[in-house]
Order: sequence, then C-alpha cells, then structure tokens
Amino acid sequence: MRNVRVLISGAGIAGLITAYWLKRYGFRPTVVERAEQIRLGGHAVDLWGSAVEVIERMGLLPAVEASRTGNDIGTTIVPGRRPLTMPLNVLATPIADRHVEIMRGTLVSLLFERAREGVDYLFGDTIRAIDTNADGVRVSFEHASARSFDLVIGADGQHSNVRQLMFGPASQFSRYLGAYLCGFSLPNDWMPPGHLARYLAPAKTVTLAPIRESGDIAAMFLFRRLAELQFQRHDLDRQQQLVREVFAAEGWHVPSLLTRVPSARDFYFSPVSQIRMRRWSQGRIALVGDAGFCPAPAVGGGTTLAIIAAYILAGELARARGDYTAALPNYERAIRPAVEASRDVGPSLVRALIPRTPLEITFGLRLAPLVLRSPPCVRRIVPLLPRRALRGLRQVASVTLPA
Ligand SMILES: Cc1cc2nc3c(=O)[nH]c(=O)nc-3n(C[C@H](O)[C@H](O)[C@H](O)COP(=O)(O)OP(=O)(O)OC[C@H]3O[C@@H](n4cnc5c(N)ncnc54)[C@H](O)[C@@H]3O)c2cc1C
Repeated sequence: MRNVRVLISGAGIAGLITAYWLKRYGFRPTVVERAEQIRLGGHAVDLWGSAVEVIERMGLLPAVEASRTGNDIGTTIVPGRRPLTMPLNVLATPIADRHVEIMRGTLVSLLFERAREGVDYLFGDTIRAIDTNADGVRVSFEHASARSFDLVIGADGQHSNVRQLMFGPASQFSRYLGAYLCGFSLPNDWMPPGHLARYLAPAKTVTLAPIRESGDIAAMFLFRRLAELQFQRHDLDRQQQLVREVFAAEGWHVPSLLTRVPSARDFYFSPVSQIRMRRWSQGRIALVGDAGFCPAPAVGGGTTLAIIAAYILAGELARARGDYTAALPNYERAIRPAVEASRDVGPSLVRALIPRTPLEITFGLRLAPLVLRSPPCVRRIVPLLPRRALRGLRQVASVTLPA
C-alpha cells in the first residue's frame, strides 16, 4: 500500500465516512475540523437506497433505524382552504425501497463513534496552505505546526476551504437556484409527534417538524428571490430582518414563529445554491460531499450522495493500493452519473415546493388527492414529486456499490 497518510478536511458526514473506510483499508487518516468538536447541528436528513447500504456495511443500521425521526404524516395548510393530510411514505417509496430520515446530529455522532478509533483528529483548526510536490503534500494549519501527507481530501462542506485553496473561489462553482432557506428550532408545546405541517403561500412556505429526541420543533422557511442577495454570509441581523419582512403578512403560526427568530440559538440562513464542478480531483487532492457536488441545501439528495461518494472514494484508493493516479479518475467516473443527475433535483423541487402563484397552489392541492386515491400504476405516470426530481433522486439512490 502506498500513499497511506491522508488528510481529510471536515468531520461532517462525508469526512467521517471517508476516514472510517480508509482506516479499515489500512490507510492512516487524519481529520482536521474547524469546530472545537464535531458539529451536531441541523435538522433531518434523508438516506436513500445505496446510502442505507453503506450504513449497513458499517454495522450502523440498527442504531440508525432506531433513531428514525418517525415523522410519517404531513399536512399542508393554505389560508382559506381545507388542509390536505397525507402519509409521507407515498413520497418516499417511488425514490427507493430503503429510506431512513434521521436528525443530522444523531447521524454525525453515530458516525464519529465508528470513525474514532485509529483516526487522528485535529479539532479547532483549519488548513491555511497546501503545497503539492512530487513526493507528497506539505500542509500548514492555522494553529498546528505544518505536516506532510500523501493525499488531501476536502470534505469540508458547501463553502469548502480545500476547494477554495486548490480549485478557485466559490463564485466559479456556485449556482443560485432562485430561493433562500432559513431554519431554527423552538420548544414544541403544541405539535403532535410524527406529524409534519407545511404552510403554503405564493412564493413562500414554512415547514414545521417535531423532533423526537429533543422535544423541539424544527422550523424551515423557504422563499423565492429572483436575484441572489449581496450581503455577507455571516450578517445575521440582515438575514433575520429579511426573513421577518418576507413573512410579515402571513397567518397561521407564522407571526409567533417570527418572534422566536432573534433568540433562536441555531438560526441558519442560506441561499439555495448548488456546487457544479467538472472535476473533483487534481493530483493528490480530491473533493467529496457538498465540497465538490452539493445538489443544494433543503432540496434533497445531498446526504445520500455524500455517503455513497465517500464510500466509493475510499474503496477506489484501496483497490488501487494507494495509487491516486488510478484511484481518483476511477472515483470520478463512478460518481459522475449520480452527481450529474443530482443537479436536476434542486431546480425542479424549488418550483414544486415553493409554488409562485395562487393558481399553482390551487392546482397542486386539487391534483394531490386525486393522485393519492389512484392505483400505483397511475401514480407512476403522474407522480407526486416532479418527474425530473424523482429521476435524479432515484439515480443517486441506486448507485451500484462495489463490494
Ligand atoms: C451544522 C450543519 C447543519 C446542517 N443542517 C442540515 C439540515 O438541517 N438539513 C440538511 O439537509 N442538511 C444540513 N446540513 C448539510 C448536510 O450535512 C450536507 O448537505 C450533507 O450531509 C453532506 O455532508 P458533507 O459532509 O459533505 O458536509 P457537511 O455536513 O456540511 O460537513 C462539513 C464539515 O466540514 C467542516 N468544515 C467546514 N469548513 C472547514 C474548514 N475550513 N476546515 C475544517 N473543517 C471545516 C464543518 O464544520 C463540517 O463539520 C448541515 C450541515 C452542517 C455543517
């Protein structure tokens, strides 16, 4: 085995899975994570098809299944109309036979437990510079002293540092999909367990989901915005002000939710944008997960794709016995069809999840009960999810995993 010293930037889902499999195959992974400890934040994520299989191969399936969110029913609320309630498995089953929805933090902590032994962790640090040469990679850090590695893997999320250092600024790769997302948690003093609620108004929507483990509610606001906003990514005051302005005239629980915005400890705000790159490796450097191919937050597929790609990346490095010149092109070839298919999911789900006009909302509300009452063969022709999104998600979920 060659090139066994591998530095992974980011202890998120992609980083921890890559570290686990590399260690198991005989590599010596080190993970550098900017946060002081693993980041347990975030709401629910979906594992579909082959991603569930990777979790099973890691021996984690019983624990992951035991931690399902259990949110099985959804009600859509539109002012002035009768609420529409449906079982959520009618959305899930057309994508893949196997599906688990789990809180991101729960999944990350289970992965960390599995990927702890035999992996070096540098918490509270980040890569400052990467110098590649014929013999390896010299990496300097913000705090730790410089070290040499054989390979560097960027698994540091949508705003990846490794991508920025080695491939260029985010603006080259980020594509805005015409919407914004805001999320936070609040105490649950009224929602029944297992039941999601979605409020819908033209060009905006709010979804509330009870969180079993914490007894909180996860609130997610989505709204359309033609052009990308120009303010800074960390300008919390302007982000919160904008959310209050956009939803100011709405009814249902929205006014009371908006009063919680300034005090929310986990307030999160982001454009719905995807990362599009032609290549995910360059010499001794590779990208995995959102760093290289984020299909867009909140619209599905990102976690499944990250899990599958991390497994394939580690597997290809092992199969080539550390020869990255063979392994990294094989990795790119293996994931390319799924990554390209995943790019269709975001744009079409933004249109479906956030209808623009009252007419679009009415059409959706009338169509859904008809589709729900129809037999499965009709549902295959008129699916509840947009056809392009469904095709993309199916392709991501059904990547064939090497043994
Ligand atoms: C705190 C948080 C909350 C999230 N909430 C949700 C959610 O509710 N729903 C959802 O669908 N998706 C959420 N996501 C995104 C989701 O986890 C990813 O889309 C998907 O799982 C792919 O994972 P990833 O490992 O590629 O990226 P991520 O899960 O984003 O992990 C990236 C990791 O890299 C670390 N990192 C970032 N920059 C650096 C750096 N410079 N140096 C070292 N480490 C760095 C981050 O701290 C993080 O631990 C969240 C991500 C984070 C980090």
